[in-house]
Amino acid sequence: MSIFGLFEKNDKKVKDLSNKTLRVQKLRCPQNHKCPAVRVCPVDALSQSKFEAPKIDLKKCIKCGKCVRYCPTRALGFE
Ligand code: SF4
Repeated sequence: MSIFGLFEKNDKKVKDLSNKTLRVQKLRCPQNHKCPAVRVCPVDALSQSKFEAPKIDLKKCIKCGKCVRYCPTRALGFE
């Protein structure tokens, strides 16, 4: 596969994300720590009360995927 093929593949992934919604899988979140994903969100779409699983403001979320990559237990993901 050429390097151009890789770019095309990545472009398709971004397009697919537009039809998906960010979700929190609470069972994957140990809910015993300050969520590291909250502070990486560029639009302040994640919030956390105490050590609970983070909440998503879907009106703010721009689907950049940063929080998904930051969560070590993969509790955040697009469905
Ligand atoms: S996908 Fe991006 S904009 Fe949406 S909550 Fe995660 S970090 Fe914030």
